[in-house]
Amino acid sequence: MTTPPICNYEGSDYQTSFWDRGGREYEDRTEAIAIKRLLPKSGHLLLELGAGAGRNTPRYTGFERIILLDYSRTQLEQAQQRLGTSEKYMYVAADAYRLPFIDGLFDTATMIRTLHHMADPPQVLGQVKKVLRPGGIFILEFANKLNLKAIVRYLLGRQTWSPFTREPVEFVKLNFDFHPKAVRDWLKNLGFSVDQTLSLSHFRVGFLKRIIPTGILVALDSLFQWTGALWQLSPSVFVKAHNRDSQGLHGEQTSPALGNPMLFFKCPNCGAYPLVDAKTHLECLQCRNHWGIKDGIYDFRQPL
Ligand SMILES: [Zn+2]
Repeated sequence: MTTPPICNYEGSDYQTSFWDRGGREYEDRTEAIAIKRLLPKSGHLLLELGAGAGRNTPRYTGFERIILLDYSRTQLEQAQQRLGTSEKYMYVAADAYRLPFIDGLFDTATMIRTLHHMADPPQVLGQVKKVLRPGGIFILEFANKLNLKAIVRYLLGRQTWSPFTREPVEFVKLNFDFHPKAVRDWLKNLGFSVDQTLSLSHFRVGFLKRIIPTGILVALDSLFQWTGALWQLSPSVFVKAHNRDSQGLHGEQTSPALGNPMLFFKCPNCGAYPLVDAKTHLECLQCRNHWGIKDGIYDFRQPL
């Protein structure tokens, strides 16, 4: 199976250079507010797609277990240093286009600052839909091409691409901005219903961030986030959606796999499950591929 190219943060100091020392406190705090507004108060199992170094993970309070997924193993190692090793967290290196989880496993999934790197958004969103249980919640953040700065630049003739059209714009290799209508259509066509939309980072402008105290910008953005229900003209947008599938025979019952983490996984190559736990790796009895487990990180990128 071929999948689209991947933006790989392997070996990146992204957490330090972009977040810790990059003057991104404003963006970080506005995200914390949006997560608090949209995330269910409690749940069993949450999948964090593109978890990186676990910056947002401590904000998922109320969940019994969180699976951090990233393509980069070194990002997950940083997350592990930050969050520690315990039953509460599982670290999975995998390709979001080929998720290694059984269908209907998660009651909630989040994907923040990650769709941004996806060359084929419907394919990855379809994967998320499959691993969410019926009625399960999906919190998605995406970079918005229809933002005020892009509109002004386009109208002044200082930008070639139109912010008004639905196709994604790749402004840097494997960095995409999306039109809000396009994202909503993808979600609807894949079987999600969009419940809520927040617009974020209205004041992501260098000189404002320099002259106005961060706390004030964050408070203003917090108010402006609600306008996302009416229009989205900010560079970042959060959407809360749910899996439209009906509950079926199982009602509100949780997935039978919940008690045993080994039953969470399926083979990303052939789809077979369960995988056999051989301690240093998981083995697929159908295609015979072995998937590594090293220092508490499951690795489904390439078979051993
Ligand atoms: Zn297999």
